[in-house]
Amino acid sequence: MSERKNDNIKCSFCGQTSKEVDSIIAGPNVYICNHCVMSSVDILRSNSAAFTSGVDKKKANRTPAELKKALDEYVIGQESAKRTLSVAVYNHYKRLESKQLFTDNDVEIEKSNIVLIGPTGTGKTLLAKTLARVLDVPFAIADATTLTESGYVGDDVESILVHLLQNAEYNVQRAEQGIIYIDEIDKIARKSENMSITRDVSGEGVQQALLKILEGSTVGVPPKGGRKHPEQPLININTKDILFICGGAFAGLEDIIQRRIGKNPVGFGSDMHTMTKAERQYIITHVEPEDLLRYGLIPELIGRLPVMSSLHPISREGLMNILSQPKNALVKQYVKLFEMENVELEFDHEALEAIVERALERGTGARALRSIMERSMMDIMYNLPSKEHVTRCFITRDTIETGAEPMYTVQEQKKTA
Ligand code: ADP
Repeated sequence: MSERKNDNIKCSFCGQTSKEVDSIIAGPNVYICNHCVMSSVDILRSNSAAFTSGVDKKKANRTPAELKKALDEYVIGQESAKRTLSVAVYNHYKRLESKQLFTDNDVEIEKSNIVLIGPTGTGKTLLAKTLARVLDVPFAIADATTLTESGYVGDDVESILVHLLQNAEYNVQRAEQGIIYIDEIDKIARKSENMSITRDVSGEGVQQALLKILEGSTVGVPPKGGRKHPEQPLININTKDILFICGGAFAGLEDIIQRRIGKNPVGFGSDMHTMTKAERQYIITHVEPEDLLRYGLIPELIGRLPVMSSLHPISREGLMNILSQPKNALVKQYVKLFEMENVELEFDHEALEAIVERALERGTGARALRSIMERSMMDIMYNLPSKEHVTRCFITRDTIETGAEPMYTVQEQKKTA
């Protein structure tokens, strides 16, 4: 195969001459222009079922225990959420398999989309992202607050599918078996319980739009994103096998659950104000669909989110672990960066404690760790490459708290005569 520029040569597929196209590739007695190569790639991708399998069966066939173990490598704590997710995902891919094996008369296993309830920075997004990574399926994140009903200013619900399709490298079959995480689902709740009098259309409209893709429908999406244009060809994506994981903090949900449970049924006083954080958190684990209804999610949407799990606020110890234990922990990332400068980086235990203390003050869970770390390391990373012969850099509590210089070890240079 070689590229030809001869004017007389024509593409064997579209008939254009080499003058009319950018390049023509020649095979034995056959020519193809750059346009036809691109069209062929598109055809192969959209017919990907015939050429590539959507999901790696081996990866998707892991047992719940294996899935949980894989999650453990990246996500600290949150045991019950990890277990619930592992079972739900296992069942999800079993369901896809069963559809291929059985005929219509069999019992149809319904899709188990998931709601994760927990404060910000506790690992909801991380869990969804890690699952997709472990299963090697395409993944997309959407923020429910930026979505609008179609026709309004903002992102159409279809835009979520565009991201998924892009992340699946336009392999429609893979996209159709991917995972979508929808963040801040609590923020599109109706504001009042008594909807018959005051209809809060804003949140409800988006919930209705989401419902459409959650329950499974074929949606035409503009492949390059943006608004739908009449002249832009759409790619059809069927959402029935896409796993949706929705997350939200659901502030105030404890009060709703407590009101339902009534006085003291789980061993607490009914006064929310005298409850400790741990007690409030324990209450969240008793969440039932009707509590989400009272919170302002529409019943149809709740019906499509049958699996619920809650995440705990991250403790001091948890934050310490997050800094250094996960496979791509922040400390490990910095150690690697310094290694590339041939410098051994070490954090004093006290320095890590100082980072954790600051993160706790911010109250945004583990989310704050990265920015605190980055701010503390900024000057060091700026200066280090210009310093000569440094072999070791030891970060102390002072480095974090006051920006003091870390302790450097410098290799002794042999004196030349
Ligand atoms: P959420 O979606 O609950 O608001 P994220 O999953 O986006 O929180 O987490 C924010 C940051 O904190 C991410 O960088 C993530 O790596 C880290 N993080 C949060 N929770 C955990 C956890 N349980 N284990 C490891 N890292 C975590």
